[in-house]
This record gives sequence, structure tokens and C-alpha cells, in this order.
Amino acid sequence: DVPVAGLPGTNQERSFFMVKPDAVQRGLVSEIIGRFEKRGYKIVAMKMVTPSRELIEAHYDDLRSRPFFEGLCKYMSSGEAPVVAFVVEGKGIIKVGRDMIGVTDPLKSAPGTIRGDTGVSIGMNSIHGSDGVEGAASEIPLWFSQDEIANWNKTADKWIYE
Ligand code: GDP
Ligand code: MG
Repeated sequence: DVPVAGLPGTNQERSFFMVKPDAVQRGLVSEIIGRFEKRGYKIVAMKMVTPSRELIEAHYDDLRSRPFFEGLCKYMSSGEAPVVAFVVEGKGIIKVGRDMIGVTDPLKSAPGTIRGDTGVSIGMNSIHGSDGVEGAASEIPLWFSQDEIANWNKTADKWIYE
């Protein structure tokens, strides 16, 4: 089996993503997750969660000193909408996932990216994605236990990886 955090640099690299409450409210879950499927990536975990304040604070721990931290935590854990947390596996997913998402501010994100196609506000930017190997390695086990990860063999991989 692949380790929970994946094997960075191989076809079994893994990254953590989350459809944020604004995008769940707007009915964008399938639009967003579908992009990863279409690209050829393998989804190995997925769940809808109404996150606690504690979980969100742990997730965004590195942003504690930022002025928007309080508002970010309130919004993400308000309970007005859940999030959809998911783990994607495949070659280059940590960097490619960030490229697919766009930059933090949707107004500065290129058309074709998720944020560039779905939003206008920095605080409601549709999706989270791990920003590097370390982020993925800490976020995947923060959100998912070992038994929530599906170690499945995607037979279509032979039409995706040469
Ligand atoms: P990301 O990795 O692109 O998601 O950006 P960061 O890790 O820097 O910030 C985490 C999240 O905090 C972002 O996705 C935004 O939702 C929010 N955020 C970041 N910067 C700002 C800001 O200047 N103002 C507000 N309101 N929210 C921000
Ligand atoms: Mg980040």
C-alpha cells in the first residue's frame, strides 16, 4: 500500500484539496472535483465535513499571525455549509494541483484555473490545495485517517501514464 501521505516525485504523489463552503453553497462540487478526474488523476479519499473551529485552526496554523486569520476561521467553520475534503494521487499533483487552482486572489487567477473561472473574492476562493510536499504530508493525515484512504488500482492508468 501507498503511505497515507503518498510518495512525492512518483506516480503515487498525493495532495490534499478541499472544496470550500462558498463553492459548496454555489453547487460547484462536481465542477471542481471533475477537473481532477478529467485530468487523469486518481481520487483516493473524499468526504463532506462540517469542520470544527479546532480543525480549521490546525489546518491554517501557519496563518495564525495574519490579520485575516480570525475571519478565515469563522467563515470556514461557520457551519453554514460543509466542505468537501479530498485527496488526489498522481504524477506531479502537488504542483499541478496548485496550477489548476490559480493564485490566492481569484481576480488575479488566469481564466481556465478553478479560481479564475469561479470567483472574485480572496476570502471566498472556492478551493484549498496543499502548497508543497510538507503541506500535503501534514494536511492529508490531519483530515483523513488511514482507513479513509482507498488504496485502489485504477485500471485506466494504462491509458493515462505511458
Ligand atoms: P492559498 O494557499 O492560495 O489558499 O492562500 P494562503 O495559504 O495564503 O491563505 C489561505 C486562505 O486564506 C486563502 O485561500 C484565502 O481564502 C484566505 N486569505 C489569504 N489572504 C487573504 C487576505 O488577504 N484577505 C482575506 N480576507 N483572506 C485571505
Ligand atoms: Mg495555502
